[in-house]
Amino acid sequence: MKPDASGAQIEAMTQQIAGLGLTPQVIKGEHQTVVAALGQERPGMAETLEIGEGVEKVLPIMAPYKRASLEIKKDRTVVKALGLEVGGVKVAMIAGPCSVESEEQIVSIAKRLKELGATGLRGGAFKPRTSPYSFQGHKEKGLQMLAAAREATGLAIVTEVMAPEHVPMVAEYADVLQIGARNMQNYQLLQAVGDSGKPTLLKRGMSATIEEFLLAAEYILDRGNPHVMLCERGIRTFEDHTRFTLPLATVAYLQEKSHLPVVVDPSHGTGKSSLVASMSKASVAAGADGLILEVHEDPKKAASDGAQTITPAAFGQLMTDCRRVAEAVDRTM
Ligand code: PEP
Ligand code: MN
Repeated sequence: MKPDASGAQIEAMTQQIAGLGLTPQVIKGEHQTVVAALGQERPGMAETLEIGEGVEKVLPIMAPYKRASLEIKKDRTVVKALGLEVGGVKVAMIAGPCSVESEEQIVSIAKRLKELGATGLRGGAFKPRTSPYSFQGHKEKGLQMLAAAREATGLAIVTEVMAPEHVPMVAEYADVLQIGARNMQNYQLLQAVGDSGKPTLLKRGMSATIEEFLLAAEYILDRGNPHVMLCERGIRTFEDHTRFTLPLATVAYLQEKSHLPVVVDPSHGTGKSSLVASMSKASVAAGADGLILEVHEDPKKAASDGAQTITPAAFGQLMTDCRRVAEAVDRTM
């Protein structure tokens, strides 16, 4: 719409779009409002809309992912949950153990992490394990432990939901729903999380292309939930010196294509605690809007992912180092 288009003109356009059998979506920008028309284009539609009052121009959205695309929303999305803000000038830090092990463990690590500068607390209550014989998480009890940690610290709780039927329960305790790499293309889960309206951290599937990743985000956005963060967590390649291969060009590329904030997970991305600090600094340098890290009081004793988990002391040093990198790229941390 033209920068001076009136509210009535915008409303009239949404009705006209709906009348054509398309779904209108009004996106208010700082200078201009865009009305996206989502659906199947038919010949003549663009011309019909172009002559509408207050319309500046009609442009096709080229990307297959429409709502996630920078083509329809120029200003960057900032996802907020309690004190956690991802997508602004400040680089956000989400940290915590891979799994929630006990209330005592999660409350005490949460306090440490808060002191050291984290604004989000991670911890799995439902664990997607490669082997059915590995620890599967404390489930609802784990969620209650996380809620106790939030109560004690005010940190926003980031935790995974694995099944559509669990979304209402997990959403009751969590501030951010995490969709794990193994579930990136579980479309019913994506839709259920979309319906919940909760801030969501969507992890990239380990064999998913960027287009598939953005189309997975599109499923959540399409259900009317705009609070989506994209998380690069490493992909499968022929390499075996690291658990996964962590491609950081993803960060810059996603920011070129999408307005959604980008978070990097150097813990799963490398699988090795000795590499986590370097790759965290590299992620901040590449423009990441946030990091998610596995931290445990005693990584050797962690119930899961100990090899890639760092200690609170290492986390403190990492925060100091990342802050310096953040400053160098005009960010704070
Ligand atoms: C996790 O965050 O502990 C996890 C299981 O991550 P991913 O889905 O990326 O493997
Ligand atoms: Mn893990």
